[in-house]
Amino acid sequence: MIPYGRQDITEDDIQAVEQVLRSDWLTQGPMVPRFEQAVADYCGAAHGVAVNSATSALHIACLALDVGPDDWVWTSPNTFVASANCARYCGAHVDFVDIDPHTWNMSVARLREKLEQARAAQRLPKVVIPVHFAGQPCDMPAIHQLAQEFGFRIIEDASHAVGASQEGVKVGACAYSDISVFSFHPVKIITTAEGGMALTNHPQLAERMERLRSHGITRDPEQMQGEPIGPWYYEQLELGSNYRMTDLQAALGLSQLNRLDAFVSRRNALAEHYEELLSDLPIRRPRVTAGNRSAWHLYPIRLNLEAISCSHRQIFESLREAGIGVNLHYMPVHLQPYYRNLGFQPGQYPEAEAHGREAISLPMYPGLSDEQQTEVITHLTKVISG
Ligand SMILES: *Cc1c(COP(=O)(O)O)cnc(C)c1O
Repeated sequence: MIPYGRQDITEDDIQAVEQVLRSDWLTQGPMVPRFEQAVADYCGAAHGVAVNSATSALHIACLALDVGPDDWVWTSPNTFVASANCARYCGAHVDFVDIDPHTWNMSVARLREKLEQARAAQRLPKVVIPVHFAGQPCDMPAIHQLAQEFGFRIIEDASHAVGASQEGVKVGACAYSDISVFSFHPVKIITTAEGGMALTNHPQLAERMERLRSHGITRDPEQMQGEPIGPWYYEQLELGSNYRMTDLQAALGLSQLNRLDAFVSRRNALAEHYEELLSDLPIRRPRVTAGNRSAWHLYPIRLNLEAISCSHRQIFESLREAGIGVNLHYMPVHLQPYYRNLGFQPGQYPEAEAHGREAISLPMYPGLSDEQQTEVITHLTKVISG
């Protein structure tokens, strides 16, 4: 079976984890701060706050920006449910902005239109969460411009985009956002098994997120309301969670980070190869905007179903039967039963819905060989040609 994505683990990674197992600290030792510093330095951000998943990072990012029950948070419908759920954890209302027909990222034109309508209705969002779909950065300077004009904050869901850049600026630098979030799930670019990180240039946001990942507790006298009356003393200032990353995970992440650039280069090479191999098929290939370097978490294509005699589902099933683990990214989030129950309906975001009917993610991971890639295309060509 060729999966759609998988981790790349070396002997060095294993030894890094083993060393932690033999040390005094399995959690809350030296590895987590080291990993945070290394990721922040790599991206050019001031602070990194490591947590046990990107889902947790999105949650504490919303909390740190004071998202609450009266607020609106907007994201893309073409994403994993976690990008929207984070607002619901805070009791906030969620809304979506349809995608661009070419990049499949949140459309800046649709965002502007929706903001103008929302301003008239006095329902502007507190936070917008652009998602760097498949690893390609959204148009962040344009979204940032709108943030200043309409007064919202920005959390980048960069779960797909560790190692990507825009005009030479690394995703995660938060040049055009308040907070950026990475996922280190095994199918993503680098892994800590489960894990995530929130990056920011604002010291207060970093401090707040550090507290929120650990019960809302501080041991820093500067943050305390009372006097530290002994070495045991700590204060819980607000309600937080236990979202901490372990030192085992951070050691794996640090070791993986050494190969991040190599991973992204290999993914770019695979994407270039796909681009050539797919040029004669009735499909649309992902388009990367000039100035962007994608991390290529995914390689999604869109079927031109009018030119193909079989259905999306038939193509999907025959590739799976041939041992090719294709996937769909994404079923539009607003059509999930949970969101339907909140009132969302088919037809609201036509581009994202068309994407959901036509998209197939082909295998994409550093360990995919050129031969396997050719095999994928051979099967796809055979199936599409009937
Ligand atoms: C994977 C993913 C997440 C969630 O990541 P976890 O680390 O599994 O919590 C969030 N958003 C997007 C876009 C993702 O792809």
